[in-house]
This record gives sequence, structure tokens and C-alpha cells, in this order.
Amino acid sequence: MSDAPKPIDASPADAPPEKRDFIRQIVREDLASGKHAAIRTRFPPEPNGYLHIGHAKAICLDFGVAAEFGGRCNLRFDDTNPAKEDPEFVAAIQDDVRWLGFDWASLRHASDYFGVYYLAAQKLIRDGKAFVCDLSAEEVRAYRGSLTEPGRNSPYRERSMEENLDLFARMRAGEFADGARTLRARIDMASGNINLRDPALYRIKHVEHQNTGAEWPIYPMYDFAHALGDAVEGITHSLCTLEFEDHRPLYDWCVDNVDLAGNPDLLAPLEKHGLPKEAGKPRQIEFSRLNINYTVMSKRKLTQLVGEGLVDGWDDPRMYTLQGLRRRGYTPASLRLLVDRVGISKQNSVIDFSVLEGCLRDDLDATAPRRMAVVEPLKLVLANLAEGHEESLTFPNHPKDEAQGERRVPFSRELWIEREDFAEVPPKGWKRLVPGGEARLRGAGIVRIDEVVKDDAGTVIELRGWLDPESRPGMEGANRKVKGTIHWVSAQHAVAAEIRLYDRLFSVEKPDDESEGKTYRDHLNPESKKTVQGWIEPAAAQAAPEQSFQFERTGYFVADRRDHTPEKPVFNRSVTLRDTWSAG
Ligand code: ATP
Ligand code: MG
Repeated sequence: MSDAPKPIDASPADAPPEKRDFIRQIVREDLASGKHAAIRTRFPPEPNGYLHIGHAKAICLDFGVAAEFGGRCNLRFDDTNPAKEDPEFVAAIQDDVRWLGFDWASLRHASDYFGVYYLAAQKLIRDGKAFVCDLSAEEVRAYRGSLTEPGRNSPYRERSMEENLDLFARMRAGEFADGARTLRARIDMASGNINLRDPALYRIKHVEHQNTGAEWPIYPMYDFAHALGDAVEGITHSLCTLEFEDHRPLYDWCVDNVDLAGNPDLLAPLEKHGLPKEAGKPRQIEFSRLNINYTVMSKRKLTQLVGEGLVDGWDDPRMYTLQGLRRRGYTPASLRLLVDRVGISKQNSVIDFSVLEGCLRDDLDATAPRRMAVVEPLKLVLANLAEGHEESLTFPNHPKDEAQGERRVPFSRELWIEREDFAEVPPKGWKRLVPGGEARLRGAGIVRIDEVVKDDAGTVIELRGWLDPESRPGMEGANRKVKGTIHWVSAQHAVAAEIRLYDRLFSVEKPDDESEGKTYRDHLNPESKKTVQGWIEPAAAQAAPEQSFQFERTGYFVADRRDHTPEKPVFNRSVTLRDTWSAG
């Protein structure tokens, strides 16, 4: 792998416009000034849950910036918290990143650096910059002070270097119980930034780790591990969300005071992992999180939704996990489009859910083949056609993309149409079928309704109509002006399909709002999932799992990636054709 910088403006003429957000500006300047010959970024998830749509923003930024500037991006599992981590998440995260269209230069684990972290901590002790503290968690809190009051020095702060080294070695040897001691940085208990008030660097935790087993009874704290992990990997631009802005002084403190780049001996433990023994001085840059209304986006809440059975698992198509969105029919391109549309800045904002849906519509409108499917069927008999009449009509797969070719759609005397395309007593402005009225059957001619058949309860169970023989496509009467066009499937040929009509999981804009003693559980949308049995044209049944279609006039649907088979088709509604929420 070469680190040579690639020219920045080498994009082909038809490439999308160059992105100009503040992070890309910084990267451009750092390359132009020669500060970096090549850039390196990383995406550092904690493997304690499935990725959600917010992570898509970080992934597209970390991997996108690296790709655009000829740099490299690592995938690093921030696995410093053994109790909460699970190999299931490690596999799913890799899957999600690849699905979004990215690949990593190198797959890393913070746990690969445990040896380096340990040597780094010893160096800080030797330099008088870290000490072993015997205060309990509660006492540490009491000593810390507040936003308005300075903290107090720990009574253990002046321990000798020798004693600190000895105690730290014994912590590492497993001599002390969980919580009995911590290793703390020796910075400034009066700092206006609470993160600098002698923060913990190591804690004791006798828990086995997925990668290192029982090797370590002590684990590094996030800020320390993260800063040094970036340094070890030679990360040039460490991109993270705004909540880490206040941690940046501590991040810089760790990078500068350990100075891995200037102390290559601290990198010796990398050898056993076959990793290069070089380090850099990373710069942390923060950007605002992606927030979308009508969603919850914290791993904790997503975990609860699954754990409490409020949804059907991590990949429930209503979930805002990447796995859920994928199963719902969101495409990687639609999520990348979302991140581009939202942009990168330091401004916190909440994106309207319709922006997310709009991105999917725009992607699928351009790419998804069209099919006909009837979700809530009503029988229509074309009485003037002979019994057993059967033909097949040719339809383009996509109205604007000839390259998608054509398909044959069977047509016969008995059709299924959408129940809602007929009204006995039409509302004002109605353009579809009424008793005695006409509408165009998509690609098949004009039908007039002559008879409405009802059951004893008065429910319409069948329509009988007359298909104008002069109105078939290609005939003279085909262009006769008729107000409405409706879709249909041939009853004899259509395939029964399970159709899952999904909608937003929450019915309020801020499901996180906990005022009035409510939680997001109280805001679940009871209409978020409805399953119906519909009829689809044969060509739709043949779909491969994860194939998306526009079911004409109905919405965008995807063949369910778990349950769909051509024999027993199952389709999920990804998004309706139009936004039905904001209009009210
Ligand atoms: P959560 O708060 O949902 O549990 P997290 O921040 O703890 O998420 P990590 O696994 O630590 O999840 O996140 C990995 C990366 O993804 C971090 O750099 C984090 O800043 C970024 N990230 C997480 N949520 C968002 C979001 N909503 N928008 C943009 N980036 C995000
Ligand atoms: Mg986190």
C-alpha cells in the first residue's frame, strides 16, 4: 500500500461536485501545505450494539474523505470495555460498513494496543504525570468539584514514582479488587475543563475480554485509549462527533505527553501483532451528529426495543439500525445521498424524516423496475371478453430507463384491481372508477363499470365491466380522453404475496422527549406494521431477495431478505410514493 498522495482534483468531468465542508477544507489545506503527505482516518465503533443510521454519517465521512483524497481509512473496534462487547456485533458492523459501499485499509482492535497502552501509562508515571489513586468512585466524584468550583487534589497525588510503578504493576498482576484503585493522569484539579481534573486512565476490572481473554485485569479508559489508538495508527484527522469537543484537551494531552512518535520503544508490543512500529500526531476534529425526528438513535434504546420485544429483532424493518433500514429496502446509495444532503458542519440540527424518505424515493425512482401489484384486491370481470381469454402485454420495466428492457404481463378476463380505485359515491374531484364511469386500465384499454355485485352485508365484492375494444393500446380509440388510470393484475396469473405495510415506528417528532413521565415506549406508532395478502404480477414474484420495485401507484417495495421466495413472495413497503406525513 502506497502512501503517495493522489491528485485531489483528478475527478472525471461528470463526477458530482466536490464537497466543500470545513473538514474537507482542512484536509485540502493540510495536503497543500505539505503537513501530511497522505491522510489517514478511522471509523472507531464500540462493538456493543448494531450500527444505526447516525453511524452512516460517520462512516461516509471517515471512509469518504479518505477515498476522495487518496488516503486510507481503518476500521477500529474500540473494544476497551469488555463487559458490554459481543462478537456478534463485531461481525455485523463489518457487514454494515461493506454494505454501505466501503472497505477498510486495515482492520484493527484497540485491544491490539493494550501492551502499548500499558507501557505508555508507565511512561507517564515515570514522568510524574500519572499516579495510582485509592479513592473510591464516590470519593473521586466528591473531590472532582463542579462547573463552578475547582476540584481538590487526591490525597494519593503525591505518591512517589517508585510506589506508583509498584502499585500499577500490582494492579496489572491482578492483586486488587475491581474499583479498589485507579491510575489517574496528574493534570490540574482546578482546570475549567472537568475532563482535565486528573481523569482516570486505567481501572481494575476482572472481566475476560473477547480478544485478550483473562490476560488483563485492568482496562484503559476511553479518552486515553482512543487518543493513543489514533496515534498508533498514524491517523492524521480523527473525526468524531461534537460531544467529544470538551475531551479534545485531554486527547491532545495524551497524544503530547505520551508522545508515541518520539518514543518508539513504547511501540514494541505491536510486533507480536505484526503491526508497524510507527506512530503519528493525530488531530481531533468534531462535527455535529445526525439527528432525525421520529427516530431514536442511541444504541441503548435500540437495544431496549429489541430486548423488550417492542420490535421483531435488530433487523426489524422499522428499526433505525443499518440492518433494519436495509431490510426495509433502504439502499446504500440512498443513505450516502442522505449524508451528502445533510452535509458536514458543527451546527446541531434535527433533520426531518421526510428528507430520509426523499433520498430513498429519489434513488429508487431512478433505479427500481416498475411492477404491478394489488394490495387490497377487488375483482373486476371484463364481461365482454370471452371466458378463458388470455394474452400477454408488453410493458417497459422503467419509464425513463430503456436499458432496463421490457417484460410481459399476462392479461385475462378477470382482474384484481385496488379496492380503493372504486367508489360507489365518489368524493369531489374523483377520477377513478364509479358505477357507469370509465377509467384506463394501465396498458390494456378503457373499462366501463356496468354492474356492482354486493354480498348480503352490502359490501362490494365484484365489479363487472366492459372493455372498450377500440381503446386497446395502438388502436385509434386508445388516446380517447379518460380521467383516471388504474393498475391491475390478472386474477388467473397473479401470485399471492404477503405484503408488509410498514410506517414510522414512532408517531411523534421527538420520541426521546421524556416530559410528563413518558418514555419513547409511549410514542410507538400502533400503525407501524400492517400485513396484508395482495396479488402481484408473476415477474414480481421472481424477484431475488433484496430486489426493490416500484409497485405502480402504490409505493416502493423490497423483497424481504429473510422470508421472500418466488413461491411464497414477501414484500416490505420501503416508502410510499409521496410524503403522507407532512401534508397532514
Ligand atoms: P450511541 O450514542 O448511539 O450509543 P456511540 O457514539 O456510542 O453511539 P460508537 O460506536 O462509539 O457509538 O460510535 C462510533 C462512531 O460513530 C463515533 O465516532 C461516533 O461519533 C459516531 N456516531 C455515533 N452516533 C452518531 C450520529 N448520530 N451521527 C454521526 N456520527 C455518529
Ligand atoms: Mg460511544
